[in-house]
Amino acid sequence: MFSHETRTDPHLAIAEQATDKPAPTPMRSEAAGDSAPLKHVAAATSGDVPSNSGPVSWQTAMKRAIRRSDELCRYVGIDPAFAAPSAEGFPTFVPLEFADRIKRGDPSDPILRQVLPADDERHEVPGFVADPVGDLRVSQAGGVLHKYDGRALIVTHGACAVHCRYCFRKEFPYSELNAQKSKWKPALDYIRSDPSIEEVLLSGGDPLVLSDQSLRTLVEELESISHVRRLRLHTRLPIVIPQRITDALLDLLAESSLMTWLVIHANHSQEFDPAVVEGLTRMRRRGIALLNQSVLLSQVNDDVESLCDLSKTLINAGVQPYYLHQLDQVRGASHFWVPPEKGLELIDQLRTQLPGYAVPTFVREQSGQPSKTLVV
Ligand SMILES: *Cc1c(COP(=O)(O)O)cnc(C)c1O
Ligand code: SF4
Repeated sequence: MFSHETRTDPHLAIAEQATDKPAPTPMRSEAAGDSAPLKHVAAATSGDVPSNSGPVSWQTAMKRAIRRSDELCRYVGIDPAFAAPSAEGFPTFVPLEFADRIKRGDPSDPILRQVLPADDERHEVPGFVADPVGDLRVSQAGGVLHKYDGRALIVTHGACAVHCRYCFRKEFPYSELNAQKSKWKPALDYIRSDPSIEEVLLSGGDPLVLSDQSLRTLVEELESISHVRRLRLHTRLPIVIPQRITDALLDLLAESSLMTWLVIHANHSQEFDPAVVEGLTRMRRRGIALLNQSVLLSQVNDDVESLCDLSKTLINAGVQPYYLHQLDQVRGASHFWVPPEKGLELIDQLRTQLPGYAVPTFVREQSGQPSKTLVV
């Protein structure tokens, strides 16, 4: 979906799976006072504007997501002049559930900075390139990335629950590699033919953008391969749209014969609200092991207080901090760069304030290396 060739919006296909009544584009209530908590109140002139008065399905949450930067600004009560047009092929995409955690009227909010296109995105900076981690060179048939011993990654779907402006997959040619439902056979054949693959990672995009039924089909195929012992899902959906943790999903993951690890992606403690914590708790109680990975991002989490709060929020919700990634030097993301020396200092400070298990490993991805590389 992030390919410049792709013209269709995969989020719309997802929304078609929705069973509840789909809702159109949101509008901020003009009646809300500046300090009032955000509520999706229908504008008087439109009878068909969504409201958050009741829960909607996760598919509807995807469908009614904010898709324009000026709209996002208005929604969170800041001047639309803060909005830059988003890069071609990577539009603004923010579900209301996530936007509601942005502090109203604060242009430097750490969630807003992750999702609002900035002018800086269009600056060409030497060293920031289209494919910084070399994924395009290692992809196997059917959307499999097999870079590391024992682990293979399937690009299950190109779509995501939110568009993170620092994303290293921004320019990934999903239209060629995306192992869509009907196209999983080559990926499964590849994994079946290599007995060294003990662990399969489902990534994307976001694998939980798949319907529970599609995911079940894929997991059952993997369970039938005897050398595959572990399943790992890399997903931001439990953070962005917590109602994605459906009972059917819980049953699928908890009852699988594969040991299941779920790796969420959060960068700031403000991304957690009671619904997110409840979803994580439900998963943990069903025996699904939870990890988190973050990206070290300038003016989002590059201070010891933010990282410390994030780790505490995670461990209090039963999620172990796994990796803190150095930003991949992807084109258009240079304004998120944090010098590695600063990251190392922050990690040292975290170590003095947190239990050892709450300090993530600071890594970067270097093309051609046999593992993630420790930043030292
Ligand atoms: C990061 C990554 C993995 C997993 O690496 P771990 O260190 O085991 O978390 C596997 N495959 C690919 C292609 C990756 O990028
Ligand atoms: S959810 Fe992950 S893959 Fe999708 S845009 Fe964000 S960082 Fe990129």
